[in-house]
Amino acid sequence: MTPFAFLGICALFVILGISLLYKNQRLKELNDKVSALNFSLEEMDEQAKLIMRTDMELNKAQEELDKKISGLDTLQKLSREISTTLEEKQIFKKISNQHVEELGFERSLAFLWKALEREFQLYLCIGYSQDESLKIKTAINANKDYFLDLINNGTTVSSEFVPEGGNLSINTFNHLFLVRSFIICPVLAQEGNQGFIFVGTQNAETVITKGDQEFISILANQIAQTLDNARLFEKTWRSQQELELKVEERTHQLTQALEEVKKISKRKSDFISSVSHEIRTPLTSIKGYAAILLGSKLGALPEEIHIRLEKINRHSDELVHMVNDLLDISRIESGKVEIKKEPLSLKTISDKISDLFSEQFKTKNITFSSNIPDDCQEILADRSQIDRVFINLVGNALKFTPENGKISINAARSNSNVQIDIKDTGFGIPEDAQEKIFEEFYRVDNTINQGVKGTGLGLALVKQIVQAHQGRIWVKSKLGEGSTFSFTLNAAK
Ligand code: ADP
Repeated sequence: MTPFAFLGICALFVILGISLLYKNQRLKELNDKVSALNFSLEEMDEQAKLIMRTDMELNKAQEELDKKISGLDTLQKLSREISTTLEEKQIFKKISNQHVEELGFERSLAFLWKALEREFQLYLCIGYSQDESLKIKTAINANKDYFLDLINNGTTVSSEFVPEGGNLSINTFNHLFLVRSFIICPVLAQEGNQGFIFVGTQNAETVITKGDQEFISILANQIAQTLDNARLFEKTWRSQQELELKVEERTHQLTQALEEVKKISKRKSDFISSVSHEIRTPLTSIKGYAAILLGSKLGALPEEIHIRLEKINRHSDELVHMVNDLLDISRIESGKVEIKKEPLSLKTISDKISDLFSEQFKTKNITFSSNIPDDCQEILADRSQIDRVFINLVGNALKFTPENGKISINAARSNSNVQIDIKDTGFGIPEDAQEKIFEEFYRVDNTINQGVKGTGLGLALVKQIVQAHQGRIWVKSKLGEGSTFSFTLNAAK
């Protein structure tokens, strides 16, 4: 072998060696990459599985959510319908097959405890034949203490949860109600109407969730609340009926009493009127004879007789006056006097009064004033009758006000009326007499009154006249400070 050839072979080996080394290196690198790829593939597989799992869970959650939304929708619809019902039986009639199905069940029952009968009564039956529901009712009443306990403790029972201690298991419930899954929720009404609502399904796939239990308990609460409202409404309605009956009875009694009062009042008026007429005739004769005697037509009279005749004449005048007042009161009271309303100037009336009493005002040094604002200038009243009101009231003020006092007439507008106040700074009227002074013949029983002449008929007449004008009259007074008599009349404008 030539050295060249040997060198060549050596070089070939070296090259082969290097290339082998390089290939090995590449192979190793490739192997590393493959194992890295494998690792990533495994990771990706894991992630894919996770994604699938999450997707499934999401789907499930979505389904739950859809179920909840549809359940909520049904509950809302039901609540709206139930809450407007005010009759016990009607409340349960609002719950239909469709409602129960939308809540995920096909069977439903509702029982209410009737304390008087001491049994549970059936108020709602969906998905059962009459026979089946009757059997269930009998079984429930056979275990009434158990169900009453559930209600009293507010316990919700479902195929997921049956409280321990009772003699009823999930299987017994399933068997009793002919279902595979169920919820029993107490109806806790306050007004004595307690019971429970049952929903169930034969679908083996149904799993009762917390959400399902919440829905049924919301429904049970809504029923309880509506039962309370219905009971309350019934109570209110019943008491209203009783009240109406009482009012009717009372109105009837009052109408009868009023009729009686009217009859008595008419009899009184008739009596007063006929007695007054009877008295007036002999009185006229007495006055006539007194006048003849006083006129000396039968010869001159001794002084003593003249004085006494004068007294007879004066007292007869007073008696005529009194009889006339009495006649007027009874005539106005019985509506025999026609009130002819016309616009009258308050200022003119006040001036007339001031003129009429000017001498007495002067004698007692009483200051008289009047204040009639622009919007009270004209009233609607019967001229002759209204004069008597002012004369009587100012006359009284004058009688019962000591020297140096004040008397005023003030007017004030109030809507379509004018209120007139006749105010004095006199002795005043005791509180307990303020109502009575408007009655016939009533005079305050005190020393002041004993010294003042009067019949006790003036204010009774005034009241009749004001009332005949559709007005009101009242007094405010304080002993020692004075009195204000107020009355209302229609304003002319
Ligand atoms: P008379 O004045 O003729 O007694 P009235 O019916 O006018 O009858 O009055 C009844 C009673 O009311 C009077 O007796 C008097 O006691 C009381 N009275 C009326 N007006 C006043 C007044 N302005 N101040 C105090 N007392 C009065």
